[in-house]
Amino acid sequence: MSDAPRTLAVLRAAMDQAEREAGRAPGAVTLVAVSKTHDSDAIRPFLQAGLRVFGENRVQEAKTKWPALKQDFPQTELHLIGPLQTNKVRDAVALFDVIETIDRPKLARVVADEIQRLGHGPRCLVQVNIGREAQKAGIDPDQTAALVDLCRREYGLTISGLMCIPPAEGDPVPHFRRLAELAKGLGLVEISMGMSGDFPAAIACGATHIRVGSALFGQRDHH
Ligand SMILES: *Cc1c(COP(=O)(O)O)cnc(C)c1O
Repeated sequence: MSDAPRTLAVLRAAMDQAEREAGRAPGAVTLVAVSKTHDSDAIRPFLQAGLRVFGENRVQEAKTKWPALKQDFPQTELHLIGPLQTNKVRDAVALFDVIETIDRPKLARVVADEIQRLGHGPRCLVQVNIGREAQKAGIDPDQTAALVDLCRREYGLTISGLMCIPPAEGDPVPHFRRLAELAKGLGLVEISMGMSGDFPAAIACGATHIRVGSALFGQRDHH
């Protein structure tokens, strides 16, 4: 027997508690299970336990695992949560149901063109570099409104929300609050923030999606 049902129940209970304490509706927050670096044999028990929303950070890696898994579990919603290069857009649009990492005009335009070519495609979120870290992906908070507007007006690309990864050090709460305010100001309903170490705080600040890896699958090998 796999531990997946038990691990999942523990995490769900913590999510329920965070929702209750924040006065959020039960089930207001969607769990995105981050399965990066874990193989199909590790992922399958979580699908069998009922999870249907997963996140991967590399297009190439996702391509080796998810076409077969999606065939067996057709209702699965797959999120791209890692940086996307324009030369991988075709594969990403074909495989993913949500792309959370739109962070520059050129990428937005290439994704929009590919979705138009196919006639359908993923929902898209804009990744915001909420802590303004030099090494981190994402658009500057002050340029977020302009990028969302450009997507809407020029590219015909619907943006449904915002995503962020706050700085590893320090209190994430001010960053979570800022992302939620940005989203509200732009009329965007999806807010993807919070990971294994800080999801209760993210839920308190209004996250609609939390992205949890190690609390479900265990520690990853560091590459
Ligand atoms: C790996 C990853 C996560 C999950 O992190 P954990 O600390 O393992 O929960 C969430 N978001 C992004 C963008 C990631 O790359």
